[in-house]
Amino acid sequence: MTAASEYVVKSVMQGDTRKDSLECVLAARLARQHALQRYRRRHTTAGKGPHFLRQGQGYLTFCSNDYLGLAGDPRLAEALAEGARRFGTGGGASHLVCGHSEAHEILEARLAALTGQPRALLFSSGYQANLGVISTLLGRGDVALHDRLNHASLLDATRLAGASLVRFAHRDAVDCGERLSSLATARRTLVVTDGVFSMDGDVADLPALAARCERHRAWLMVDDAHGLGVLGTDGGGTWQAQSLEPGRIAASVGTLGKALGTQGAFVAGSETLIEALIQFARPYIYTTSLSPALAWATLTSLDIVRDEPERRAHLSTLIERFRLQAAGLAELDLHLAPSITPIQPLIVGPSWSVPGSGGQGGQGGNEAAALALAAALERAAIWCSAIRPPTVPAGTSRLRFTLSAAHTLEEVDRLIGVLFDAARRLRSARETLTGGTSTREAST
Ligand code: PMP
Repeated sequence: MTAASEYVVKSVMQGDTRKDSLECVLAARLARQHALQRYRRRHTTAGKGPHFLRQGQGYLTFCSNDYLGLAGDPRLAEALAEGARRFGTGGGASHLVCGHSEAHEILEARLAALTGQPRALLFSSGYQANLGVISTLLGRGDVALHDRLNHASLLDATRLAGASLVRFAHRDAVDCGERLSSLATARRTLVVTDGVFSMDGDVADLPALAARCERHRAWLMVDDAHGLGVLGTDGGGTWQAQSLEPGRIAASVGTLGKALGTQGAFVAGSETLIEALIQFARPYIYTTSLSPALAWATLTSLDIVRDEPERRAHLSTLIERFRLQAAGLAELDLHLAPSITPIQPLIVGPSWSVPGSGGQGGQGGNEAAALALAAALERAAIWCSAIRPPTVPAGTSRLRFTLSAAHTLEEVDRLIGVLFDAARRLRSARETLTGGTSTREAST
């Protein structure tokens, strides 16, 4: 853990005082991150979620995307070992050279079936899959029309493609349609949306978006990283939960590193789409194939998704219990987002602002309060990260709780107890400091 000032001192001690030296340039940027309280740190863990060890201390974790609790499942570990024995640990080359194994081929067919699409293509990560799809479908003169809260990888992909980036209001198919009307002169238009929004947990209205796309001859791309395995009767994802005919989605992206408990991603769509990605998607062509052992292990994940619907049922019970109990936090100006998914953000209300601390990075102290709450949970051995701008819009800093089928009801109760306790303590400390404005007065 090195403070930014130490970076500066270090570069000076190394005799590197030129303002344009790499050390000085980066040290200045790092110092700015510190000043904004946005300096990010990693925590090294041991053990498996949701019970991690960090520096010898045990934590109950509520911030991983392992929604079905499969990442630590011994059956996957066994399948991974078997896959490594059969196919090797690494692909050894890109898919187009000699890195495409039977394990990949079988997994692609299973993923296509799960998403109701004719074919699927594996990528090494969701980030790469999004880069691959958008840069293949769009170029200069084309438009990607994004939901305002889409994942960063989708925005980066649009920039890589050189296409214009236009946004529509969050989950607002009417606004999407109006923008499509005004974009009638664009060469091609791709409407892009998350299925489940990663920082909010709410769900796109896919049938409404598909209708707008069909009316305006636009293509629809859905990144269902957080819906796959969780939503729908078979865990098929958002389209299945909304009874949307999957053929109405031109490109469907899913990731393996969340509910499926492994790593990697895929794009599902028509035969033509997949063939085009194989020919033209540079993030597919110029990279080593996903580990075939992981591909093999992911087949076991899919078996579990199919054979153990009780995992999804248990997750639903946890979500309901969490929401029922956490609703009371509104009294303390902490607000549950309207989410039916395992992503359950708790947004810090305006009355938590520290007077006079607005402006850069502060947003009236909203960020500081999110950090203080996360720190208070940590002292009680509960791990949930505070999410702040620029990841979420200013003034909406939050604790993003995620639930997993690996949690028990008692663990959710423990979280709620600690959360109320921490919020009340922080609230009264804050009121002592500011002269005792009540929550209700402050938040109206
Ligand atoms: N899309 C969404 C909506 C995501 O939340 C994420 C990762 N958090 C990704 C894509 C990237 O997936 P991966 O981690 O496999 O790169």
